[in-house]
Amino acid sequence: MRSKPLPYHLPSIGEAEIASVVETLRSGWLTTGPKVRAFERAFADAVGAQHAVAVNSCTAALHLALEAAGVTAGDEVIVPTMTFAATAEVVAYMSATPILVDCQRDTLNMDPDAVAAAIGPRTRAIIPVHYAGQPCDMDELTLIASRHGIKLIEDAAHSLPSSYRGTPVGRIGDITCFSFYATKTLTTGEGGMITTNDTLAADRMRMMSLHGISKDAWKRYTAEGSWYYEILHPGFKYNLTDVAAALGIEQLKRQGEFREARARIAQHYTAAFSDLEEVTCPVSRTDREHAWHLYVIEIDPAKLRIGRNEFIEALRADGIGTSVHFIPLHLHPYYRDRFHFRPDAFPQAFSAYERMISLPIYPAMSDEDIEDVVRSVRGIVERERVGPVAAAGSSGSAAQAAQAAQAAQGRRPA
Ligand SMILES: *Cc1c(COP(=O)(O)O)cnc(C)c1O
Repeated sequence: MRSKPLPYHLPSIGEAEIASVVETLRSGWLTTGPKVRAFERAFADAVGAQHAVAVNSCTAALHLALEAAGVTAGDEVIVPTMTFAATAEVVAYMSATPILVDCQRDTLNMDPDAVAAAIGPRTRAIIPVHYAGQPCDMDELTLIASRHGIKLIEDAAHSLPSSYRGTPVGRIGDITCFSFYATKTLTTGEGGMITTNDTLAADRMRMMSLHGISKDAWKRYTAEGSWYYEILHPGFKYNLTDVAAALGIEQLKRQGEFREARARIAQHYTAAFSDLEEVTCPVSRTDREHAWHLYVIEIDPAKLRIGRNEFIEALRADGIGTSVHFIPLHLHPYYRDRFHFRPDAFPQAFSAYERMISLPIYPAMSDEDIEDVVRSVRGIVERERVGPVAAAGSSGSAAQAAQAAQAAQGRRPA
């Protein structure tokens, strides 16, 4: 159909990003230095947080956040099952136990009622994931956290920029963790950022991000500092490079423009699929601003002759790249076997998983690219929809009638 397949994602790297990286390469300072400090300052200002600590991934950010929050062996941390590996593995890094919870059926965000029910005497933190870029029910989660004296550490890997009831994500919970992985809304190739208004936590995370050393390399080797340093704790090697930060500084300036482009694509898809009973479009709440990192449709297997996997194959045959976000954690061997989860242990996440497809949504898409996605989805639905049910009064069940209609159409490819 297309002369060239449409990738599921492409980053938007402009000349300003390239020039900034080249300038940094020529500067002679490659690792954590002035570009990282400038990126942190600009990022903190962008979300309105007091502190920002740059790290080399969101996974590192989440790990440092749990460490700073004092999570230790035997503690429990509440995590949604509908998320990526990183959100729960960091809990295991601390020898703590991830307690999985189900999602709301419409937003696929962590369900506050499920969180409240999962709180126990050993719960130390909750990690909400702002799924697809739409903030979770933060008022409800904040209330639960404060009532039980536990920390709210946000996995904001999808949600730059977004806001909840007027407050930007990045200054709502105790600590917020962002991702700059290649497919995220801001990319530095690999990278991440932690924001917080807690000065003690910020200092701790900064120190632990670089070997638990009391001063970072930049201060040590410039006129500002000296050769002397002290190891205060066995820390990690999670610092971001100046090369990556040079890219991030320029990407951050374009966040508004990028978000508008994604929101426009989302609106276009939702309008284009609104008449299709077989396709459910993402729900966005009116009291929060969605970052639109993902656009996830659900297809109704009862109304189509093909399932989600075949739908993805059909899209691929039309040259449309897709993905699935996510295979819920409880279906993966490690969590399934460790906690003896059955697939329906989290029925909302499981039901969504079986139907979901992430469509391409990124600023580098042309209008024709967007149209190609719409045409392909609509074409597949029209080709594969269960035929019209026979008119009232005819004999047999609706299912039989549907089958007869299919046979009459006889168009199902072998
Ligand atoms: C991408 C992602 C992460 C991990 O980000 P990295 O920067 O690759 O470590 C964490 N959580 C969620 C929900 C993600 O989508």
